[in-house]
Amino acid sequence: MTRDDARALDARDPLAAYRDRFTLPADTLYLDGNSLGALPAHVPAALANAATRQWGDRLIRSWNEGWFDAPERIGARIAPLIGAAPDEVIVGDSTSIHLFKLIVAALRLDPARRTVVSEAGNFPTDLHVAEGAVTCVPGARLRVVAREDLADALDDDTALLLLTHVHYKTAARFDMPAWTARAHAAGALMLWDLSHSVGAVAIDLADADLAVGSTYKYLNGGPGAPAFVFVAKRWQDCLDNTLSGWMGHAAPFAFEDGYRPAPGMARWRTGTPGILSMAALDAALDVWDGVDMTAVAAKSAALFEILARAGTALGLECVTPRDPAARGSHISFRHRDAYALTQALIARGVIGDFRDPDILRLGLTPLYLSHEDVWRAGDILRETIETAAWQDPAFATRNAVT
Ligand SMILES: *Cc1c(COP(=O)(O)O)cnc(C)c1O
Repeated sequence: MTRDDARALDARDPLAAYRDRFTLPADTLYLDGNSLGALPAHVPAALANAATRQWGDRLIRSWNEGWFDAPERIGARIAPLIGAAPDEVIVGDSTSIHLFKLIVAALRLDPARRTVVSEAGNFPTDLHVAEGAVTCVPGARLRVVAREDLADALDDDTALLLLTHVHYKTAARFDMPAWTARAHAAGALMLWDLSHSVGAVAIDLADADLAVGSTYKYLNGGPGAPAFVFVAKRWQDCLDNTLSGWMGHAAPFAFEDGYRPAPGMARWRTGTPGILSMAALDAALDVWDGVDMTAVAAKSAALFEILARAGTALGLECVTPRDPAARGSHISFRHRDAYALTQALIARGVIGDFRDPDILRLGLTPLYLSHEDVWRAGDILRETIETAAWQDPAFATRNAVT
């Protein structure tokens, strides 16, 4: 693959025009959109409008002019990206908080089933939240097993199977229908964490029961943007939100002492939603209107090939599956000093990230990376390794966020 080959792919890229909808620094190749999505160019104006007009001018009247129902309205915009109905998704809180609510709810559904099963090496917050959530339900426990042992771990004590669709380190993707079916065959509920797959791959939750996901990664909602929660229609009146706050009450402004859950998804609300971050997310989702996920998947596969070839030519081990259907939209290489390598790349304008202990992770976001961008990133990777530039001691000091 030469630079001209990459340019030829760009010339017939159906997604090429999306690049102009983002603001990115000129001297940067941004390969970390799987961790913090880029800034859509129109979002600052939407934020300014939320602050100046909605807050500054309309003041508290804005609650009745679009603020109060923002969680449901924005959730409905995410629904088509995950194969859900508009009234099965709301946004608010964080992925961690939604996980807590759903895990406790699943454990309380059937007292005869006590175990939450998840994967060793799952994203840390999923396991940490599950560890805390099981302490809230008498007799409940968390069972964490290796990927190859998951199927055997499901039995008539399993209340919930909690899996992350696309793995944050390796990008390995679970076969969603197959695992949902396995959970159901055991009589358990299925909870998918879509944080690393929403906006990266086509998703059809189909028979799944529950899901959560982050909006600040591929959806570009902004740092700490409100997360989404999905509860299949058939469970909406059976599951209870333990974090029962006034915003999930059937009549918040009746100011009753007792809690009565709202019908539908509104019961998964807890407190007052963060309107400024909702405004950024709402505007960011404009970019996704009408995006063809088949084109996104095809371009992601092409970008992957460029880096996979560059990396393997350098002797790097690629830990991401080679089959596009078995992965998300990032690529990870193993390197004995991956932290220093990542820092050396950042110093050269190629922003990726490091995942402990030995992974260099590079995000492939088809909406704002060209084939030539990714080719250049591969070329800078080559130069960095061939010159051993990463061995400079300046790259060895660890930051808090890696
Ligand atoms: C990014 C990510 C999260 C983030 O959770 P927060 O509550 O937003 O910090 C959770 N789970 C997975 C799988 C992720 O990739």
